[in-house]
Amino acid sequence: MNSISGSERITQFIEAIMLVAKGDYSVQLEITEKNDMLDALAMGINIMIDEIRHSVEIELQYERYKEINAELEKAKVKAEESDRFKSAFLANMSHEIRTPMNGILGFASLLKKQGLPYDQQLKYLSIIEKSGERMLNIINDLIEISKIESGQMSITRSRTNINEQIEFIHAFFRPEVEKKGMRIFYNSGLSEKDAFVETDREKVYAILINLVKNAVKYSHKGTIEFGCQKSGEFLEFFVKDTGIGISRDKLNDIFERFVQAEDYLRSKYEGAGLGLAITKAYVEMLGGKIWVESEPDKGSQFHFTIPYKPFSGLKNFSPAMISESSVDGIPNNLKVLIAEDDREAAMLLRLMLERRSKKLMHVVNGTEAVEACRNHPDFDVVLMDIKMSEMDGYEAVRQIREFNQSVIIIAQTAFAMAGERERALEVGCNDYLAKPIVGDELIKVIGRHIRF
Ligand code: ADP
Repeated sequence: MNSISGSERITQFIEAIMLVAKGDYSVQLEITEKNDMLDALAMGINIMIDEIRHSVEIELQYERYKEINAELEKAKVKAEESDRFKSAFLANMSHEIRTPMNGILGFASLLKKQGLPYDQQLKYLSIIEKSGERMLNIINDLIEISKIESGQMSITRSRTNINEQIEFIHAFFRPEVEKKGMRIFYNSGLSEKDAFVETDREKVYAILINLVKNAVKYSHKGTIEFGCQKSGEFLEFFVKDTGIGISRDKLNDIFERFVQAEDYLRSKYEGAGLGLAITKAYVEMLGGKIWVESEPDKGSQFHFTIPYKPFSGLKNFSPAMISESSVDGIPNNLKVLIAEDDREAAMLLRLMLERRSKKLMHVVNGTEAVEACRNHPDFDVVLMDIKMSEMDGYEAVRQIREFNQSVIIIAQTAFAMAGERERALEVGCNDYLAKPIVGDELIKVIGRHIRF
């Protein structure tokens, strides 16, 4: 080092300063034994580098604290939001579940009264039925929301006839709309050929139903119009009403869970504020967007898009789709096995099938179901509950299929979770029914498979 000239040392100093300028604070200049002015300068530069390193470290730490603070702030907002949601959830649910329960329990106890005229009985029963439906809607919405949030919701694409869906929804809502003194129109800009697309049929259907249902619910005069047209790479749907409308400050929030534009306590409308949150989630899962334009007292117009994918062949044509249009041609001499561990559920199935069957047998678990099928190879239909003690329905179906390929097995479950249906079909069931089984749904499903 002693041999280095003064100008070389100055060059070293300059290089060190350049490195520091580039952000490298690890350099340190050597101090010679000369103890001269250049050593003093080198020492000064080293101290300066240390100071800079130190202040840069402090700055970095400060930035990090700022980030942590911002994250904490975000978490706080989220926690407060989820707290608000929880309170809204509890307030809404408590009301939305207790009200129909009140109807069910109250009118069921009134029905016990002796000597009640028949028309009065029918009236009470219809209230019980409506309350049950309302309760089921809420439960279904809650299950949908939790499926969406837990990532359990998946897309199942199949051939979908959009025009048919629109016509069906129009026919479905027309009586209710006309009863309110209003009119409902549909307007499809899709040719018959264009109307066949590949998408998740159930979800498109649910989105449209939700929007039209709201249009009917929140309108008391005028018209409802809905439809669809091609717009570039997308199909664009609209649902337009001349109802109560939504104020500007609520327009963005109504797609949030539990949010209602009307003041909840004063609102005369039923609902938990979940429909649009589910609808939005479905639209986004399908790769589209949803938006709304509205003016209080004038009406609302909801729009949504989904990617337009023309149906390109029969590759997704599943047996369930072919049978969709089959009619009820089932005879009244069916031999049916009911595998069901819930007494009331079994009784309900028995009552639904009594007139149609000449043999009805009831077992309460999977083991007994397998045994019954082995001993009675003449059963036409097995109604298989999935959740049963000893042996569950899936395992029972697997075992039955080892020796009987022809009996029609229909799974029935109250789980209604994603993949249940697929799993049931995979183990060998012919079809699947989600509880509660209402109306003639059971007969329709049996009719799809039994033709004599
Ligand atoms: P719900 O109808 O069960 O309250 P939604 O999530 O379907 O829940 O709708 C959220 C809110 O948006 C409703 O409470 C209502 O205030 C408002 N809204 C939805 N659709 C319409 C409509 N067509 N006209 C006026 N308001 C609507």
